[in-house]
Amino acid sequence: MGLDTDVLIDWFAEVGRDLPWREPDCSAWGVLVSEIMLQQTPVSRVQPIWLEWMARWPVPSALAAETTGEVVRAWGKLGYPRRALRLHAAATVIAQEHGDVVPSDVDTLLALPGIGAYTARAVAAFAYGKRAPVVDTNVRRVVARAVHGAGDAGPASNTRDMADVEALLPAEDAPAAKLSAALMELGALICTARSPKCADCPIYAECAWQRNGRPEYAGPAKPVQKFAGTDRQVRGLLLDVLRGAEGPVEKARLDLVWHESGQRDRCLDSLLVDGLLEQTRDGLFALPGEH
Ligand code: SF4
Repeated sequence: MGLDTDVLIDWFAEVGRDLPWREPDCSAWGVLVSEIMLQQTPVSRVQPIWLEWMARWPVPSALAAETTGEVVRAWGKLGYPRRALRLHAAATVIAQEHGDVVPSDVDTLLALPGIGAYTARAVAAFAYGKRAPVVDTNVRRVVARAVHGAGDAGPASNTRDMADVEALLPAEDAPAAKLSAALMELGALICTARSPKCADCPIYAECAWQRNGRPEYAGPAKPVQKFAGTDRQVRGLLLDVLRGAEGPVEKARLDLVWHESGQRDRCLDSLLVDGLLEQTRDGLFALPGEH
């Protein structure tokens, strides 16, 4: 069954959050940067960094002209810093091959380095108002509940998930793009993972999960994302040292951030492999391009 898309679009117009990358005068570049930042980081942490980036690098060529080390530094504490390198790589191609303008069609976006199925469609929809199925975790959960009557989304499948969402989109570009934004916002604000606020939901009456008697999620368990003690935490601590340093540092300084030497060295190696750190000829460590 479908959903009442008009109700969702009206709801979004009324209660959707005012975010700087949703302003009508925000450039497609601003939308692209926001989408990469928002993939694994909450809005509240993204917003101040996004504003800094837009003031500093208002067009792709400005970011492309920067060293990757400075870009990693400016990424700050957003986490998953390989995203900073991906943005820098995409900005370089946009500046060199697309006249400094973010492409508008999905296939050209997909051909940019580091731009995946989600980001390409999100930029086409939110920057250019196009009809494109934008599927993130929130949208998958909304569709699983409201359309399929399940307690939560099962394992992701790009093709099936996109076909599911595509089937809901109105035929015209503008309302389809608005519905994409509305579905994401509903999943972020109302149809949340642990405790959906169904009493406030604009599609409560037609929600298949409600009509099914709110069955428990019966699919495979989802991996729990922990942070403390993980390599991700240790990598973050190591990068923090370099972000705060004026230049290359000795390994002894990095050794101070984590007690367990095996894990620490493994993380240091992985940062070097990812290109987030570099080693100088005399054995010091630096952000890329900063030595
Ligand atoms: S009624 Fe509840 S479960 Fe259904 S879509 Fe709305 S918030 Fe989600």
